[in-house]
Amino acid sequence: MESQQIFININTKTKCLINRFNERKTKIIDIIKTNKNMTKTSKTDLNKLLEEIENLFKEQNNLLLEENKSKQRIIELQTNTQTITKSKSFAEILKQDNNNVIKNKKTSHVITVYPKNEGMTSEDIKKEIKTKLNPIDLKIGINKIKNISRNGLIIECDSQNDCELLKNEINTKISDDCEAKIPIKKKPKIIVYNVPKLIDNENIINNIIKQNNSLNQIINEENIDQNLKFKFSLNAKNPNLQHLIFETSPEVRKLIINSNYLNIEWNRCKCADFISIIRCYNCFGFGHFKRDCTAESHCSHCASTDHNHQSCNKNYKKCINCEKFNSKIKNPNIKPLNTNHDCLNKSCPTYEFVKNKVLEKTDYGL
Ligand SMILES: [Zn+2]
Ligand SMILES: [Zn+2]
Ligand SMILES: [Zn+2]
Repeated sequence: MESQQIFININTKTKCLINRFNERKTKIIDIIKTNKNMTKTSKTDLNKLLEEIENLFKEQNNLLLEENKSKQRIIELQTNTQTITKSKSFAEILKQDNNNVIKNKKTSHVITVYPKNEGMTSEDIKKEIKTKLNPIDLKIGINKIKNISRNGLIIECDSQNDCELLKNEINTKISDDCEAKIPIKKKPKIIVYNVPKLIDNENIINNIIKQNNSLNQIINEENIDQNLKFKFSLNAKNPNLQHLIFETSPEVRKLIINSNYLNIEWNRCKCADFISIIRCYNCFGFGHFKRDCTAESHCSHCASTDHNHQSCNKNYKKCINCEKFNSKIKNPNIKPLNTNHDCLNKSCPTYEFVKNKVLEKTDYGL
């Protein structure tokens, strides 16, 4: 993510470079024109070279723009549809939480356990935990125990407190064989829409805090970084505008989402939760980009491998992701998913599943 920070300046910087190039180009053309010692052939050659350099420059610029565009495509924006209402006081803002996306999210409380010794499997750890610990003594509720990769286990408890108790018990009583951890959740992200490209990027965080009174109550000089951090920008439809993505603390996210906007210089910019889901536009799987894809290419309409959606003439739809999920079902009691939809459809059950996983791994402070 860090490398994407450059995008906030890319257009201004490219413009600046083009201007500098043009200045030099004019100078070179002048020299070619006025130099009497140069032969006509060398003048033509130099002009040709100059033209070639200019074309390379344009090519580079197009590549940058394309890359920025594809970044924009792969990141799904989850927009908050609420309209901007009158300004609210700090107290009013804290009282409510009107974000639909996150409201329906169920919070899971989990710990992970991994073996310390090679050769120990998930089943071995499970057995060890079940023989050496007793949830009745600990007075905790266990919802689920699941095997995970690298011979690990994930244990879901009723509450965060139960997780702490179980983690400590495992790390004291069976610390020779395994280690329990409470996974660190990611910080929430917010998107600020349609911010003019000419704003003062250097001081943007400090300026936002100054101009948005409610943030002052939480953020001070020492905790700025934990509360509000610029991550990257995306192109907006209007070439003079950009969308900015910030990482926030759960408290600051709540303030911003509930007030619905941020004041930035002379603008009032709409804000929403930003949920990034990485999707491949070659195989349409999740968690990797097209440039890293090693799978077969699929049609997003019908899942076929011999054409893409632009040349698809099938009169039925089939979702490659839901189809793959169904093929992995071993338990006859699990009902297969409906696959009769385009895999880019937002109501695809696999997409919903992936989105929920992202939400679960994010700390919304709920
Ligand atoms: Zn792929
Ligand atoms: Zn097709
Ligand atoms: Zn699907």
